[in-house]
Amino acid sequence: MPIENESKRRFRPATDMVHGGTMRSGFGETSEALFLTQGFVYPSAEAAEARFKGEEPGFIYSRYGNPTTRMFEERMIALEGAEDARATASGMAAVTAALQCQVKAGDHILAARALFGSCRYVIETMLGRLGVTSTFIDGRDLAQWRAGVRPETRVFFMETPTNPTLEVIDIAAVAAIARDAGAKLVVDNVFATPMQQKPLELGADVVVYSATKHIDGQGRCLGGVILSSQEWIDDNLHEFFRHTGPSLSPFNAWTLLKGLETLPLRVAQQTANAARLADRLAASDKVAKVLYPGRADHPDAAIIRRQMTGGSTLLAFELAGGKEAAFRFSNALEVIKISNNLGDAKSLITHPATTTHKNLTPDVRAELGISDGMLRLSAGIEDGHDLVEDIEAALATL
Ligand SMILES: *Cc1c(COP(=O)(O)O)cnc(C)c1O
Repeated sequence: MPIENESKRRFRPATDMVHGGTMRSGFGETSEALFLTQGFVYPSAEAAEARFKGEEPGFIYSRYGNPTTRMFEERMIALEGAEDARATASGMAAVTAALQCQVKAGDHILAARALFGSCRYVIETMLGRLGVTSTFIDGRDLAQWRAGVRPETRVFFMETPTNPTLEVIDIAAVAAIARDAGAKLVVDNVFATPMQQKPLELGADVVVYSATKHIDGQGRCLGGVILSSQEWIDDNLHEFFRHTGPSLSPFNAWTLLKGLETLPLRVAQQTANAARLADRLAASDKVAKVLYPGRADHPDAAIIRRQMTGGSTLLAFELAGGKEAAFRFSNALEVIKISNNLGDAKSLITHPATTTHKNLTPDVRAELGISDGMLRLSAGIEDGHDLVEDIEAALATL
């Protein structure tokens, strides 16, 4: 093959995010090549036959795999410490494939109730239509995980920290319950990022990301990735993925590869900014509550110390004046933009009760702790002084 695979030796994450997974073509290009091709040509009919039989390595069709997409997968494998991965067109394509590929009619999924809205729709409504039942519980209560297990439970699903209230679930403890139940634990690790939490090391079986968030981190494209053991991917995902086609475009894979180069730098700066904003907000008498995994007053601080290596790039806080105060505060911001995205280089703020979580009934919102005065803030990479001045000016309008 005219492609040279860079050494598989692993280095520290910041080094692997620049070099990991790189395959150089015969031209010796510095930057990763963008192979914007659907298919591949073979030197002979015999070579085509051998490749289809799996007797010769090489790509066949970009729905199955593509050199640029594979470079992105390999770089994520190095970062996550997984054995294999498949890149998908969006985070929801990753969640849907990771769940649907391993269940059949009659199976049961046990999930934490604090979930990204579309994840809940996929489990409850879409898989429900196919005869897969589900139960949603308070993920922080280990007794509810134990009690929720049925003989037909195949999958446990959770995200931690959760959106938008930044609750934290004990991954190692839930993984142990899943193992006892003979179920696979799938963790949506978007909020912690691969820099701050390693679910596979804590006992999870599968990790999924929306690469749209911190991995791109610059607001350009959608993407996702599923990471697991070789055995789980071979037995569950491989055929599902090839035949249903949630594949990531090579162009977006190239964008995400470049995103990974700066992921450690961006997440460090975003986390420092989030910590600073959380402390400043906590000091204000106009703020009723601050939820930030990096603060000692977080209700799950003991679990956070065990399973996270950073405080997250996101925080949530509740303004004493309810919805009116939340809107006035958001509208007064100059640097921080109003947007429902997260993980971006730009600081973004959202009012969950009227946007991302507006479809929930007021009762369910109350159960999840999403009040009308709550705002979720995704810290960007701007100068922290400007961000603090921005929220100070907005607080002064209340
Ligand atoms: C954004 C997000 C998703 C969905 O990702 P898309 O790339 O938008 O499809 C899933 N889970 C979590 C936690 C997210 O934040």
